[in-house]
Formats: sequence, structure tokens, C-alpha cells
Amino acid sequence: MGIPRSVIDQTIERLVKEYGSGYRQRIHTGVHQAARRWQKTDGSPEDFQEFCRKHFFADAAQRRTVFQRFLDKLESLYGNLHRIYREFHRELHVDSGRMSPVDLLFAQYNPFAHVQEDMFRTRLAFVVLLNFPIYSLAEKDRLGRTWERRQWAEARLADMLVHRIPAPVQQQRSAAYARADEYISHYNIFMDKLRIHGKTGWFPPGVHLISHWGLRDEIKALYPDPNGLTKQRMIYTIMNRILRQEIPAVVINNPDVEWDPDSNRVYRNGCPVSDPTLPEADRRYQHLKSIFEAERQVDAYTPDTPSLIDRRFLLDREMEEAQVEALIIDVLRAPVLKALARLIQNRLGRALEPFDIWYTGLRPQAHLPEAELDKRVQKTFPTLTAFQEKLPWILQRLGFSAARAAELSHRIVVEPARGAGHALGSQMRGDSAHLRTRIPEQGMNYKGFNTAMHELGHTVEQVFSLEYVDYYTLHGVPNTGFTEAFAFLFQSRDLHILGLDAEDAARLDWLYAHEMWSAFEIAGVALVDMRIWRWMYQHPDASADDLKRATLEIARDVWNQYFAPVLGMKNQEILAIYSHIIDAGMYIPDYLLGHLIAFQIFSYMQDKDLASEMERMCKLGRLTPRVWMQHALGEDISARPMIEAATRAIKNLKRRH
Ligand SMILES: [Zn+2]
Repeated sequence: MGIPRSVIDQTIERLVKEYGSGYRQRIHTGVHQAARRWQKTDGSPEDFQEFCRKHFFADAAQRRTVFQRFLDKLESLYGNLHRIYREFHRELHVDSGRMSPVDLLFAQYNPFAHVQEDMFRTRLAFVVLLNFPIYSLAEKDRLGRTWERRQWAEARLADMLVHRIPAPVQQQRSAAYARADEYISHYNIFMDKLRIHGKTGWFPPGVHLISHWGLRDEIKALYPDPNGLTKQRMIYTIMNRILRQEIPAVVINNPDVEWDPDSNRVYRNGCPVSDPTLPEADRRYQHLKSIFEAERQVDAYTPDTPSLIDRRFLLDREMEEAQVEALIIDVLRAPVLKALARLIQNRLGRALEPFDIWYTGLRPQAHLPEAELDKRVQKTFPTLTAFQEKLPWILQRLGFSAARAAELSHRIVVEPARGAGHALGSQMRGDSAHLRTRIPEQGMNYKGFNTAMHELGHTVEQVFSLEYVDYYTLHGVPNTGFTEAFAFLFQSRDLHILGLDAEDAARLDWLYAHEMWSAFEIAGVALVDMRIWRWMYQHPDASADDLKRATLEIARDVWNQYFAPVLGMKNQEILAIYSHIIDAGMYIPDYLLGHLIAFQIFSYMQDKDLASEMERMCKLGRLTPRVWMQHALGEDISARPMIEAATRAIKNLKRRH
């Protein structure tokens, strides 16, 4: 921005004169890319010109050397910083005894915080920008289909240095997200303090649920309970009070008062609180608005993607907004949903309620009791060490050759998780992926083993897509949906590993019906999330109260268009309850994409050899989702496989009844 046009033109002419007009296009692109990001503190216009003369590499061999240097050094940089990250998070992630308060401080240390700025300060970023063109998503999707691997790897190198966002702007943004996260993660409802029809004691003492996940999961858990419906309706009323912001501020995260969500009255020690209780008003939407304002500050520094909407779609997911919206609508309009709704209605024996978007009764049940499965697991994997030692055996049972199974196992470290399980891949070859799963004191049980199989799918993908990929900048998979696919595949073979055959057709039919119903719910929330962000960019000066009203209207519109025809009732606002709408900056569409992509790969794999297909797919590395899918499956990302599988499943289930 600090380089005058005349200096840019002069720099280009000098380089063309030196290397010949055959290089004009490359020189033009490179000098402009670098100039756009050059700031006063980087040097004078003369310094810029001198820098370009010294660091533009016309010669192919020289350019290849520079490229290789970046691959090697970046692998060392990111790989070693990642090892520090893993060590600093060890006590938080791994069950290693009592935590010390200092462990949380270590976990807050971000070793990657200054990498980007240091790359620019040292001018290394400018070497990349001067020599390697940045391609747009459309270009990568179109040209990338026939690119050589090297071209892809070069494009990914340039992608790493596209943005230069000043530290204060980045800090403001992180602070806005952190405040919203803090707000959401302390939003508990004390269920044991609910007073309904004049009575308390609806939930056991000490039960408090976080909005909205805890509340939603309680609705799910109440389905088998014969008296569940009253409580489910109660929770639904609570959710509506929250999203409309009618909830009295005093009941949030407060065990000292009782609340009747129907009348919205507050009690202390059984007596009504006489002064009018203040509603929360618009704090929820204030947080969303603060995030929007922080993102607007970033907009100025990402001229090619000048809104969060552009950044989320074109950079993070690498799928165009219109393509994602079309996938969402395909799911929401799937004709099979009406048949699924009828099936659910029959199973429940009552008319549907709006919260039945969370119905879980379609999920296939294991045909052995959990205690029996626990015994089986105990016998095969008495300890976590046994699981680690048997990794090669597990992988061979999944179809990997003895040699591959040994290589993969060698790169996977199994550890006990403190929280739920997770898989932490590495960032440099020769390091290991870390698989963590939760182990109760009595030893490994079926739940821990089932999670371990899911995480094993992730870690095997992580090892393949790092150790077996030809260029460092291409390591990984296009986005989280792709790695979830492999995790689900491994998890779905868990009974096979235990020597129990689970391949019965009815199980898969229930699974497909369940997947479709879950996709329906999350597709609705994703569409609401996207429309809220569009509305905010169209009304940048709106108040938090305006934003609240707009959000509720969007939620009602989406409901009336797609949910009312399936469930029956109109004008519900419940799709707006999702907490990540408030604190995650339009992240929800990723959940749906994850479901669709994972399902597509999962169903493609059903009649294929998992081991060889997985290796082939993972070696593709981080192409764009579209190009990856073309190479891996020979088709574009689509909701069709899920809709077709659910449609077939419903027919089969009817036939069997
Ligand atoms: Zn996962």
C-alpha cells in the first residue's frame, strides 16, 4: 500500500528488461502481490525495488531451489512449534493426575501467535509473494483439475501468506470471540430450581444444563422416559425465553433463585420476588454484533475477500456460498423427510412437537447389552497399553497389509484423555500423531474403545496425509468433513474388531434414517446462520435489538418454508437457539458439510477395500474440496447419496415391519 504506482511500473519494466518479455506476466503478478502487502515499516519504495531485483527468480532451477527451501523450513517451523503446542497442552489434554493452575497458563500460550508477522518482517513472505502466484478458489477449482502436483504445492505455499492483518486488529477480533465464548460457556440453567405448576423437584438436585447443548441433549435423553414429554416441553419453553431474551437476567447461572419458565416469575426461598424481574434484553445479540464489528475491521485488510462471509466460504471452507446454499436446500427439500416424520410420529405415538427435530430414536442400537460389550473389550484390550500394542493387529483386521500396519502403528501414540477423546496429528514427518481416549478407573470399557476406534480413523488419516504426501504444503485433507469420514468408517467397524459381526442390513437402514434426520436439523440452523450474517452486512448500523428481531424473523421464515411442511406447526423460532450462532462466526454450515462429505465417502466405501482406498485418497493431500472429491470419488460434493440411502432405508424398514 505504501508503494507508488510509478515505482511498481518501473520495477516491473526493469525486471522485464533484465529477464525478457517472456516473463512479463509472472513479473507483473509477483510485483503487484508483494507491493499490495508492503508497508512503510518494511522499507522505502527504493528498498522495495531493490528487494524485487534481488529476489525475483526467473531461472527455473533457482526457483525450484527456493521452493524446496520453503518446504523444508516451513516443515521445521510448523512441526517444531506444534511439538511445543502439544507439550504446553499436555496436562490439559492428557489424564496425568491433578492439574496445577500453571497448566492453564501454559495452555494459553500460543506458539504460533507471531509467525505470520515474523514472516513479513523478515521479508520471507515477500519472496513467496514475488515468485508464486496466488490463485482464487474459482481458479484452483477450474485449473487445478489438471495441475501437476508441484503446481498445487506452489499454490498452497502462496495461500499461506495471502493475508497481513495488523496485530491490534487480530487481537480485537480474538477478544470479541473470547468474550462471546465466555458468555456462552457460563450460560447455565439450574434445572433443580425450576418451579412449574407451583412445584419444584422436576430434576435431581445439582443438575444444571448449559444452553443450548445441555438443554438439547436433555430433550434427547428424555425420549425413553414415560414422563419425558412434560419436561421436554418445559425445556422448549426455556429455550424460547432465551432466544427471545425474555429470560430474567437473574436466573442465568444462578443457583439461588427459582424460576417458572411458563409464567416467567422468579422466586426466592419459595416466595415470589416482588420487584419486576429484568429480562436479559439483548445481551445475546450484543455479543453477535461485537463479533460482526470486529470482523468488519478485518475486512479492510483482506481486499480479495472483503467480508467474513467471503472469508468463511472462499478461504476456510473453499466452497462458494451459492454451492453450499444449494446443498443445504437439497437437504431441506428432500421428499424423504415427510416419510421420516411419519415414521417418528408412529414410534412416538403422538403428534410431532417442534423439538422433535432432535429425535434420536432412529439411531441403531447395539444388539448386545452394553455390559456384555464391556466384557468383550476388557478381554481384548484390558488396558490402554494393550490397545497400543495391538494397533498393528487392529489395522490388519481392517485390511491393511502387515507392513503398512506396522508403519502406521509406529507413528501413533495412544494416551488417556482428560476430557472426551481427540486425535492430535503432527506437523512434521517423523513426529507422531497422538490418539487420546477416556479410560475409567476399572479399565477400558466399550465407550472408551468405541471412541478410540473413531480417533484411530483420524490418526491413520493424519499419518497418511502427512508422511505419504509428496509436498509439505499439501499435507492434510481439504476440511474437517473429510477427516470425520475416516473416523466414522473406523468407528463403524468396532464390533468387527471385537469379533462380533454387526453387518446386518437393518442396522445400516436405521443409521441412514438417523443421519438424514440429523442433517435436516443442522441444515436449517446453517441456513439461519448464513442469513443472519447477510442481514448484518446489509444493516451494518443496526442495534442489537434490531438484530434480535431480524434473527427471530429469519428463524421463523426458514421454519415456515422448510420445517412446517414436515412437522406440521408454524412460526417456530427454535433454529436460532444454537449457541455457535452467537460465538463462532458462521461456523454452522461446516457441520452440515461434514455430515454430507463424511456420508458420501462412507457410502462410497461400503463395497470397496477400505485400506487401499483410504491410502489412495489421503495421498491426495489438501486440494480444494471439489478437486479432491473429483480425484477421490469421481463426483462433486452432493447430498444425493444421503437422500437416496435414506429413501431406500425407509422402504426397507417399512417392508420388514
Ligand atoms: Zn472426529
